[in-house]
Amino acid sequence: MKDVWSVSATSRSLRAFGEELAGLQAAQTGGSFTALPEADLLIRNSPEAFLLGVLFTQGISAERAWAGPYLLEQRLGHLDLRRLAVEEDAVAAAVAGPPALHRFVHTVPQWITSAARRLVSEYGGSAAEVWRPGSHVLDVTRRLLEFDGIGEKKAAMAVEILMRHFGVQLEGAECGSVAYDVHVRRVFLRTGMVDRDTPQAVREAARRACPESPGTLDLAAWLVGRDWCRPRAPLCDSCRLGGVCPRLTDRNAEGVGVRASQSSGRNSSPDSSLG
Ligand code: SF4
Repeated sequence: MKDVWSVSATSRSLRAFGEELAGLQAAQTGGSFTALPEADLLIRNSPEAFLLGVLFTQGISAERAWAGPYLLEQRLGHLDLRRLAVEEDAVAAAVAGPPALHRFVHTVPQWITSAARRLVSEYGGSAAEVWRPGSHVLDVTRRLLEFDGIGEKKAAMAVEILMRHFGVQLEGAECGSVAYDVHVRRVFLRTGMVDRDTPQAVREAARRACPESPGTLDLAAWLVGRDWCRPRAPLCDSCRLGGVCPRLTDRNAEGVGVRASQSSGRNSSPDSSLG
């Protein structure tokens, strides 16, 4: 049975892990999104590629998703937004392959074309303008939500990566949150941080655990969920939270998540999936 002490100890432990990860990321020049160094380099150096990567993060493994922009560039010979905005057939063919760059071969190309048009028409062809330094977290989130293929979950993930991984200076970190991802949800449920699997419950729990920057918990919870707190046969004894977690392993998160991971089972819906 969980108790108040164990829940609060688990929250503190998760928060400490998140702060540790944030420190590590700040100290690094990069970080690994994919197994392809060239793809990682592109994601780190090109805001446009990062935004396209966010579009790809749906229903496939994170590693495959973040490699998407690089492989798309390889196939097209460019990532020129003005061309992506109008060359719909070429984008669709490049995504379709074979091999396909994504399981949603109809929807993702539409998102790419739509995003390119928006970036050209509203942001002068620069994705970095979407999260220009000094912007408020809520404004960046609102701008991201205007893109087809980006819903609240992806927007929260993107904001956290921008701040934690790329060091983008945004105001209002206290307004950030965790992505409602299947790994995050499973960890919040099994640690007793929430009793209900709803976006509101998860976000409120994150805010309680880290009021000044709830998003600090995002990557930590996701990693715990991916690496230890597996849907079946969780590795509690070696888990980062194993010493304090009440181990409510009969709980599970079902349905749609956000940050693409094959093991998460995130979004098993067909090509019409939501961002
Ligand atoms: S793997 Fe076990 S100890 Fe770790 S978060 Fe999940 S239930 Fe808790």
